[in-house]
Amino acid sequence: MENKLILDGNVVANHVKVQLKGKIAELKLSGVQPCLATILVGDDPSSETYVKMKGNACEKLGIISKRIHLSKDIATEELLKTIAELNEDPAVHGILLQHPVPGHIDERQAFEAIAIEKDVDGVTSLGFGQTAFGFGEYPSCTPAAILEIMDYYKLGADGLHAVVVGRSPILGKPVSALLLNRNATVTTCHSHTRNLPQILQQADIVIAAVGKPNFIKGEWIKEGAIILDAGYNKGNIGDVEYVSCHQKAFAITPVPGGVGPVTISMLLKHTVQAAEKARKKKEDANSQFVTI
Ligand code: NAP
Repeated sequence: MENKLILDGNVVANHVKVQLKGKIAELKLSGVQPCLATILVGDDPSSETYVKMKGNACEKLGIISKRIHLSKDIATEELLKTIAELNEDPAVHGILLQHPVPGHIDERQAFEAIAIEKDVDGVTSLGFGQTAFGFGEYPSCTPAAILEIMDYYKLGADGLHAVVVGRSPILGKPVSALLLNRNATVTTCHSHTRNLPQILQQADIVIAAVGKPNFIKGEWIKEGAIILDAGYNKGNIGDVEYVSCHQKAFAITPVPGGVGPVTISMLLKHTVQAAEKARKKKEDANSQFVTI
């Protein structure tokens, strides 16, 4: 009998969105409408599509999407000025700078310019450090999505060996930190790793974050492993060779329809949380005035 758990990202994303709807309605009653500002620099078609998808997802839920589209020729300073204005704008709760930005722009400097309380995409080094220390408010969205899926399907990590394939700052590294904070024993692999198949043979949890289609093969997987595939390659193909890995796995995310949809819902969740925090801060500040 087929006894596989397919980790359906659309189900998880809908669950998150239903919860958010209530919170957004509550915020609106107190005069606050969550707002995510997206900054797109240049005309890269994929980036344009991603930003549009994120903006549309916001609007569908009642989150304001403030879309800023800057010319590909702008200097780093101009981008920094735009970010500084958004940092100062009390109506904006989250800021997302779509990456990659054109090569002449100092992307790291731009990310670092985002105020920590508005870093809903988890791109600042301060946010990453807080995530690694275990008190980060808004981890990078794809790692957050991976944990959200595990939580929804009640898949614990405590004591398990998690092997993360990939070590990028937005994915491999933060998801390794998050799993470590959940008491997994974490091995983070990368392009210099030797004997990757043997390491994967020991994995109870496999996180695929490589960016290479069908890279992880079923024969490398331990019977009964949990596989979360963050990969998204041309032609809607994941980093995991689905058919062979599905045979070995206890639980697996499909691509598409796995980690991807949950990633967007994490961006929405973080934006709503940032709006709630901003409201509380304002209420606390107001309550300090004594009326006579
Ligand atoms: P990235 O920055 O290109 O990082 C890829 C990582 O894979 C690097 O750490 C690299 O190692 C490692 N790697 C490359 N070849 C390897 C090999 N042969 N063996 C072991 N490790 C190897 O990519 P990313 O931004 O993290 O994205 C990874 C994947 O996730 C992509 O498919 C991307 O489209 C997808 N993604 C999906 C979402 C989503 O919402 N679902 C969001 C973000 C990214 P080195 O560090 O040594 O180079």
